Amino acid sequence: MKKHNYSAGPCILPQEVFEKSAQAILNFNDSGLSLLEISHRSKDFVAVMDQARALVLELLGLEGKGYQALFLAGGASLEFVMAPYNLMKVGGKAAYLDTGTWAAGAIKEAKLFGETVVVGSSKNDNYNHIPTGYSIPTDADYFHCTSNNTIFGTQMKTFPTTEVPVVCDMSSDIFSRVLDFSQFDLIYAGAQKNMGPAGTTLVVVKESILGKSGREIPSMLDYSKHIKAESMYNTPPVFPVYTSLLTLQWLKNLGGIAAIEKQNNAKANLLYSEIDRNPLFKGAAAVADRSAMNATFLLNDEAHAPIFDEMWKAAGISGLPGHRSVGGYRASMYNALPLESVQVLVDVMKALETKV
Ligand SMILES: *Cc1c(COP(=O)(O)O)cnc(C)c1O
Repeated sequence: MKKHNYSAGPCILPQEVFEKSAQAILNFNDSGLSLLEISHRSKDFVAVMDQARALVLELLGLEGKGYQALFLAGGASLEFVMAPYNLMKVGGKAAYLDTGTWAAGAIKEAKLFGETVVVGSSKNDNYNHIPTGYSIPTDADYFHCTSNNTIFGTQMKTFPTTEVPVVCDMSSDIFSRVLDFSQFDLIYAGAQKNMGPAGTTLVVVKESILGKSGREIPSMLDYSKHIKAESMYNTPPVFPVYTSLLTLQWLKNLGGIAAIEKQNNAKANLLYSEIDRNPLFKGAAAVADRSAMNATFLLNDEAHAPIFDEMWKAAGISGLPGHRSVGGYRASMYNALPLESVQVLVDVMKALETKV
């Protein structure tokens, strides 16, 4: 039976990416060797890394603008540490926008390095919206925000203009919508939401912001060292990087971010229209801040849950239960999820009306 995978991460990738990456494990580039058994310094793998790094900048429109793309290990969670380590001056301070569990995780780590000013927070409303009306201290070393709040289903539609460097955790919506990416100085994203398997984290950094913290940074945590080594300071996560390259190539062939954004908007409109129309359901996040990637919604009557759960499972849907901190349901509609899968979910929601 065809599966419709709504998992929040790790999550669905394009079918052709699964097939090509599986093939590379058996026989990489017709070399008779597996991708997993060759040197990361071999010509073939160096080409993979170079292409992946270049394609990231191409797709984001950041070529020739002083940015470097890196594929690191340690997950987005390690970037919670690396960002302050590299950017917060000794005795300096950083500004953070607290929009969810991941933002709070980043704040926790930043506090280890210096003064951490939370300029806005929606914590008291269980993070159901993006705070507005905050101001960013001009003497902060940087401002950190989370573009998409995977757990709560909110997404920043605009970003503040500020003279301080802007750092953005884009783990769950990178490559999903057109933005002026040059408004950010440091972008990071765990691969496992919109790009590849778990095991690598994309970092896109403007080189001019580095080298100013006055800190002595351990080599593995130093963006400058990774840039100098062309993202090969140590053995990189070869399989996640290769698979990410395949996804980036898939996206480019499709027409890039502008093309996928159209599809993502169509999927989100289809589902949110049904959430709003169907009297059995309600959305969990403020309408203006709804995420096109992760739609969170609830049943108005919890008593309908057993029958709804049975129905969507029978339709081949997986990964729909909401995060425990929100409850209800979360439909993660990452780039590779087809519109047809959203239609299947909407049809089940409609059918529920006739059953209760
Ligand atoms: C999943 C996620 C993370 C954590 O990523 P790891 O790679 O598991 O460390 C951080 N931020 C956001 C927004 C996420 O969605």
